[in-house]
Amino acid sequence: MTRYHQPITVCVKKLLTDTIWPEFLAIVREEVGSRVVETWFKAILFYRWDAPQKTVYLRAPNTFVKEWVTSHYQKLFETHLGRLLNEQTITVLFINTATTEEIIPARALPPETTKQSPSAAPAVRPATAARPVLRQRSSINTLYQFNNFIVGPHNSLAYAAAYAITENPGKLYNPFFIYGDSGLGKTHLLQAIGNQIKERDKNFRILYQGADRFVNEFINAIRFDKVYQFEARYKDVDMLLIDDIQFLSNKEQTQEAFFHIFNTLHQAQKQIVFTSDSLPGDIAGLAHRMRSRLESGLVADISIPTLETKIAIIKKKAEEHAEPMGDDIADYIASTIHSNVRELEGALIRVFAFASLTKQPLTLELAQKVLLRTHEVKSTGADLHKIGATVAKFFDYSLQELKSPRRDKDVTLARHVTIYFMKQMTSHSLREIGKFLDRKDHSTILHAIEKVNDRREKDMAFSQLLIRLERQIAH
Ligand code: ADP
Ligand code: MG
Repeated sequence: MTRYHQPITVCVKKLLTDTIWPEFLAIVREEVGSRVVETWFKAILFYRWDAPQKTVYLRAPNTFVKEWVTSHYQKLFETHLGRLLNEQTITVLFINTATTEEIIPARALPPETTKQSPSAAPAVRPATAARPVLRQRSSINTLYQFNNFIVGPHNSLAYAAAYAITENPGKLYNPFFIYGDSGLGKTHLLQAIGNQIKERDKNFRILYQGADRFVNEFINAIRFDKVYQFEARYKDVDMLLIDDIQFLSNKEQTQEAFFHIFNTLHQAQKQIVFTSDSLPGDIAGLAHRMRSRLESGLVADISIPTLETKIAIIKKKAEEHAEPMGDDIADYIASTIHSNVRELEGALIRVFAFASLTKQPLTLELAQKVLLRTHEVKSTGADLHKIGATVAKFFDYSLQELKSPRRDKDVTLARHVTIYFMKQMTSHSLREIGKFLDRKDHSTILHAIEKVNDRREKDMAFSQLLIRLERQIAH
């Protein structure tokens, strides 16, 4: 009989599923957004907590989900489930999807036993899924490399500096501070630095840590009277990578401890790299001397990628999944998802997952269906002609004028808006839209969409105008 059947364990299990797991989901939601939670984490069941072994057993609906959460959210499980369970380090294992009662650590499964119903076999990277999900320590994710980081105008400075640092750690830009909104590639770049150096020199001692975790460790160090050991661990490295330093906000005592660590490393010319969601000066509750330390080296930002970069990122990710991706689909996803790269990736993966689960070829129609289903795109019956005619009329032009070479400001705006809606509301490719509007260069089309998206995000009146227009078109 497995533990699972013993009443007391059932109680504990219920307690955990009812409290710890929802709490964990709430934290994850805060960190990576509710879409990720809905897409990935909601599909996972909290199966069992083995306290003596400090092991959490989870169940994923299929290998695909298991693989994805393992490779992308390892740290989240480790940090937050660990904290909620009051353990410094935990192991997380996924149990076999097909079995119901038996608990089999993923590692022990020969690939063939990963039985799944035929419809649940996306097999993106099949057999390798059979490994434990979490290591004991937080470490650098080897998936985050320079060679799979796409460079565009939005991140080129940060990228160039990060790369330069790997060739000369501690000497060039120290500290190096990367800031930008969530999901734009800060952690990727930070860990790429670590991975690159590690590849060249296995003995280089790199410590990567999230600042939230740093705070927790510090609190525990105080509780157990181990502050000296705590500081020593951070001082005894060749390079320190601190992710999301904004979590030090208002943590006075932790800042103080960090300040000493910083000074020790800096004086010894050891490289320190930070990421943050804002500039040092904009992090609330940061001691003046901390702020000036953070600002003292190079500060570089990562902003929202341009449409072209988004397309490049999608293509790269598709390649990584060994999924051929047509230009039209890449265009479509890139112009549909506006906010950040993490969401872009999420959309892409949903499309892959759907194609794979339903055994359909990856087509533009399929991509639209999937993203429509997740309410990222609105369903419309609009065609190019209807859109062109409606927008032209709205701006008091004829469709012919929109198609003409005229480039004065107003007609250009009307044309841009037309292109935007054509992309937004139909499944036509950029090339087809260009052709319809007698535009030879397909970069003009990209540019137009980018322009409208930019303004839509900044200009409330314009955004409202677009909503009104969209209603007219869809009418
Ligand atoms: P942040 O730390 O800024 O919140 P991440 O580094 O976690 O963002 O990036 C979110 C996801 O987007 C990651 O999976 C990352 O690999 C991907 N990503 C972000 N920027 C790029 C890029 N320029 N090229 C390739 N992938 C990227
Ligand atoms: Mg990050």
